[in-house]
Amino acid sequence: MLALQRLGLTLFTAGFAIWIFTLTLGQFQLTSSGIDNVVKPEHRAIIHDRTAFMLNKMYDSNIAFVRDFRGAVNRYNDEWRAQKAWDKVINDDYVFDITKTSSLGMLTGAGHSWLWFWLSMGMAAAGGLLYSMAGLKRLPGIKNNFQYRHPATNRGWIGIAFGLFLVGFYIALYFYPEYMTNWVLLVDPISRALNAGHASRWFLYGFLYTLVILVMGVRMLINYRHSRYQQLRTISVMFFQVSFAFLIPEIMQRLNQPYQDLKNIWPLDYTFFFDYKINEKLQAGSLGIFMLVWGIALSLIAVPVLTYFFGKRWYCSWVCGCGGLAETLGDPYRHLSDKSLKAWKFERVIVHGVLVFAVVMTGLVLYTYFSGQGTVLGFLDSYAIRSTYGFYVGSIFAGVVGTGFYPVMGNRVWCRFGCPLAAYLGLVQRFRSRFRITTNGGQCISCGNCSAYCEMGIDVRAYAQRGQDIVRSSCVGCGICSAVCPRGVLNLEVGPVSTRKI
Ligand code: SF4
Ligand code: SF4
Repeated sequence: MLALQRLGLTLFTAGFAIWIFTLTLGQFQLTSSGIDNVVKPEHRAIIHDRTAFMLNKMYDSNIAFVRDFRGAVNRYNDEWRAQKAWDKVINDDYVFDITKTSSLGMLTGAGHSWLWFWLSMGMAAAGGLLYSMAGLKRLPGIKNNFQYRHPATNRGWIGIAFGLFLVGFYIALYFYPEYMTNWVLLVDPISRALNAGHASRWFLYGFLYTLVILVMGVRMLINYRHSRYQQLRTISVMFFQVSFAFLIPEIMQRLNQPYQDLKNIWPLDYTFFFDYKINEKLQAGSLGIFMLVWGIALSLIAVPVLTYFFGKRWYCSWVCGCGGLAETLGDPYRHLSDKSLKAWKFERVIVHGVLVFAVVMTGLVLYTYFSGQGTVLGFLDSYAIRSTYGFYVGSIFAGVVGTGFYPVMGNRVWCRFGCPLAAYLGLVQRFRSRFRITTNGGQCISCGNCSAYCEMGIDVRAYAQRGQDIVRSSCVGCGICSAVCPRGVLNLEVGPVSTRKI
């Protein structure tokens, strides 16, 4: 291992360990002003009453603090539920905000949080960059990189441990954010600088997501420095993540405008037509109306038109945030995708099933919005269906499985099996697109590099051997098959639909 690589790994490990350690820092104390700052006026008296035993008591960990606070609210709710007095039940979940506002000590002062930020996330990011820069000393591309043998990338113990960490992170983020308030406090100063407000768990997530894409994007730029296509599309996903997904929505919030990632397209953005989002935009005046029209135009016009001209790669490999993470953080795992026929059959059923689910759910949501009726046909509860979609698809599939399973099932688990937008783009690409990957069968030496590194599980070699164009709905046009082919057999091209050799 090169000295630079060793230094990078040491810094990354130290920064990561300190980041985990920060979860244990600080103390927690519930105060009257804390309750008044967080709790809605109609609930304040009851929260003051039921949590009186916690007031001004010092907790050394947020676990005990959360247990006491949640226990007090749950006991109160249980009493009214037993009497079926639903209007008295507190449905608002205050535990994250209360825990964050009750935090004292090492992470709460602006100077302290900067110090811990640089010691943890800052050092880990610097270590990741140094580790990647060692790639400049190696040959570009996927050559002798031991991906099939290294325990981090061959479903070995490091990969499994990383996967478990990611799964745990997503479960905490979606369902138990109160246990990660210290991480949120670390990025509070950045949040205040950008949107003039305190950081939420989603700000933390957006910040980490962007940081990871940038650091791993540099790795991608170094590893594929011989390929102009890879360089351009990596810069593109980094740009769209930093600007469209992160900075612009935060600045919009600062200007009291709706928060919107302008490149996130329905049905991937499954909440786009939810009533509170439509109302928020309608109330925001002309900019809100523009956002509404822009989002609808992206779905109904940009997707079919741009996919006709360029294939689904214009979005999946150049713009999308999920694709951006898969292509950067997930690059070391692309060879783990299942290439079997069975996987392809599952893929087709599941991904199109999710698309149908998204369309039906959105139809019900819009029906409720325009008619005011929560139930359709007397038994379909549109609120229950949207929360089922949000839980199983939006949280579990897209987050926990979609990213947490990178080290086991490859980097495009979500894009391949779950993304409804990928299914929509794929239908256009398969039946009405100028995009294809051409193959020069006579040059193919059957090395199998292309199939091995296809993140979508496509048996590229089989097409190459037959001299057949690759026109598959799942192909995201990442171009890696072409970049790793030693014989220049594969070319990503566009041309008249009628000339595709399929
Ligand atoms: S066939 Fe090639 S371009 Fe398409 S997804 Fe697979 S590796 Fe990427
Ligand atoms: S990488 Fe190139 S030479 Fe090797 S099997 Fe694929 S098309 Fe053939």
